[in-house]
Amino acid sequence: MIDFFKPTYTGDEDQYVLDSMKSQRMSGDGKYSQMCHEWFEDHIGCEKVLLTPSCTHALEMTAILINVQPGDEVIMPSYTFVSTANAFVLRGAKIVFVDIKADDMNIDESLIEEAITDKTVAIVPVHYAGVACEMDTIMDIAERHQLYVIEDAAQGVMSTYKGRPLGSIGHLGAYSFHETKNYTSGGEGGMLIINSPNLVERSEIIREKGTNRNLFFRGMVDKYSWVDIGSSYLMSDIQAAYLWGQLDNIALINDARLAAWDYYYKGLFSLERLGLISLAKHKDKHKHNAHMFYIKVRDVAEREHLISFLKDKGITAVFHYVPLHSSKAGQAFSQFHGIDRFTTRESERLIRLPIFHGITVSEQEYVVESVRDFYGIHFNDRIKSRG
Ligand SMILES: *Cc1c(COP(=O)(O)O)cnc(C)c1O
Repeated sequence: MIDFFKPTYTGDEDQYVLDSMKSQRMSGDGKYSQMCHEWFEDHIGCEKVLLTPSCTHALEMTAILINVQPGDEVIMPSYTFVSTANAFVLRGAKIVFVDIKADDMNIDESLIEEAITDKTVAIVPVHYAGVACEMDTIMDIAERHQLYVIEDAAQGVMSTYKGRPLGSIGHLGAYSFHETKNYTSGGEGGMLIINSPNLVERSEIIREKGTNRNLFFRGMVDKYSWVDIGSSYLMSDIQAAYLWGQLDNIALINDARLAAWDYYYKGLFSLERLGLISLAKHKDKHKHNAHMFYIKVRDVAEREHLISFLKDKGITAVFHYVPLHSSKAGQAFSQFHGIDRFTTRESERLIRLPIFHGITVSEQEYVVESVRDFYGIHFNDRIKSRG
């Protein structure tokens, strides 16, 4: 049996989690939250970060922060997780989807400008598989039209765009520490990244139930009171302690994951050369984090066959993201601008192979051999017959 994923776990988490429990100071923004905040602010080089209960919550905070009003329009790809859209729909926005690019499944930056109307308030690029969107172009469009850019970097921790960490380029960014992502704060978790200095103070207020509690703790006001809308968007310090155990080891975890990614790539390259599958194309200047390894097969029928073939061999391979514009809620809250050339077609071809921290070479070898078997290729025979 090869699982599709296992949550990242190093063993170092235990001591920090216990320490947090015994400290009797486990609520949000405790010792470990502060350590994680400092680590990320240093690593990302941003104005401020705030741990949240999930990336979904971080995205919801961005919609409040930029004052999304009913009827406002927000541009994003349809090929994404529901939370990217829901965060803005919750504030009454209409979602405007534009098509993706077949090569990296990211929003096609050349289609964004024609989707902008006088109601547009923000662009939300999603860095699919931890591979950067074309941020220079997107930031340029946003600047010319005075729009916010919110990076859904849920999958992008430790990835960069031209040397800059994902999440640090737009006005706001969001990370996920859900257990299916590269690093986890014990199952659920996320983080808001604030790059615009003028959004910092309000982000702390929104996260503290609409109060200025943070200013109170810093001695900047005499007592704290209700000053704005808000909710409880803090992460428990026990979860931050769990995450700290992973930050301690982050370079090692990232390297191991990249090595696993490269192993698959090399092992399956021959199938791509034969025109049987397509592999992800990552441009070198965008350093990725091996969040996912996917291949693309001919069509949805072939995908179904391959998934069940692998399942019979004890391998769990999955697909995801039925494009949002074709879902029930998507039809109510969104509109697809332009032609769907790639979103539906490419999403139907995509299948994800097992990749996680700790996957062994022999497990990967078995996966590669199984995919080759499916295509009836006995690699050595093929080489011989080519002679
Ligand atoms: C995982 C994910 C989310 C949601 O993250 P949670 O922490 O589970 O809320 C949002 N957007 C994308 C692109 C994701 O992959």
